[in-house]
Amino acid sequence: MPRDYYEILGVEKTADADTIKKAYRSLAKKYHPDVSTDPKEVAEAKFKEISEAYEVLSDPEKRKLYDQYGHEGVSQQFGQDGFQWSDFTRADDISDIFGDFFGGMFGGGRRSRSSPNQGESLVYDLEVTLKDVLNGKSENIDVPRSVQCSACNGTGGKGGKVNTCRTCGGQGQVQSVQRTPFGNMMSVRDCPDCRGRGKTFAEKCPDCRGSGRITKEAHISLNIPKGIEDGMRLRVTGEGNAGYNGGPSGDLFVNIHVRDDKVFQRDGSNLWTGITTSYPKLVLGGEEIVSTLEGEKVSLRIPAGTAVGTVLRISGKGLPRLNSTTRGDLLVRVSVDVPKKVSEEQKELLMKLDAAAGTKTSKKKSAFNKFKT
Ligand SMILES: [Zn+2]
Ligand SMILES: [Zn+2]
Repeated sequence: MPRDYYEILGVEKTADADTIKKAYRSLAKKYHPDVSTDPKEVAEAKFKEISEAYEVLSDPEKRKLYDQYGHEGVSQQFGQDGFQWSDFTRADDISDIFGDFFGGMFGGGRRSRSSPNQGESLVYDLEVTLKDVLNGKSENIDVPRSVQCSACNGTGGKGGKVNTCRTCGGQGQVQSVQRTPFGNMMSVRDCPDCRGRGKTFAEKCPDCRGSGRITKEAHISLNIPKGIEDGMRLRVTGEGNAGYNGGPSGDLFVNIHVRDDKVFQRDGSNLWTGITTSYPKLVLGGEEIVSTLEGEKVSLRIPAGTAVGTVLRISGKGLPRLNSTTRGDLLVRVSVDVPKKVSEEQKELLMKLDAAAGTKTSKKKSAFNKFKT
């Protein structure tokens, strides 16, 4: 003996149509085989049961028959297998009940293009130099993006003339029910006739070929802050593709790439560079001129007895720190210039120098020889 339909939906015998619909809606959400936490067979059986009850109680005539004659009164509706999904022909009811259900369950991917949706976000790659990092920059970029076609107001119909799509009733989506070995499955997809737009037109808009959108180059001015780092991403709100059906535009993301510099290497907010000096200056001390990133010539003191490879620091001549007024340092690595050719006079002087430092050299040599023999 099948269960009482009112009992299945948990409503009173006197319940009005609204109450019945509400009860069905909440039970359908709970027991839909795609989402139920119950084992598949249990959920399917349950879902069939509540759907059958709703099918009868939501139809005034069937409900009357059921009230008068019980299951007998409506049993021929369902044949041997009981309720069949294919009997469920009132598509408007299904979309009403499942509209928000599927919308809510599956998020954006399932949402119809006939409802307001945010446009796609765009990504733009921008190369900047170390000087841009030093000074900051306002940069104008051209970004191709899709905007609403003004000729048809985004409708896609020539002159903006459109009709509500009959296939989906303007919903942009169609629900279909398929019988599978696992039971009846409901699926929602974009309407094939209007491709999810909910509207059809007799003649395509020539400007956008019916898509309602055209690609246009947008001129966007960007503010590159001082101290920006390679790999950072700037977000320009609302400068992506136009939204659908009055939805907001997407955003524009600008990926920053800092180009390598031939003279300066970046190390956070510090910069590295090198100078070449002479051996006498390393020994006796002296001065060299160093160019900074901004092109200034700065005098750098080389202390007496500086070894090759020593790093000297010019403070405050590095890069600005992001969102700060301070700057890093310029680090200068010292190397020595070794001439390939020397004059007779230079040669003589160098030999004298070597002889003067000779004690050290000969000691080393003898130690080496001793070790060898
Ligand atoms: Zn158009
Ligand atoms: Zn349609």
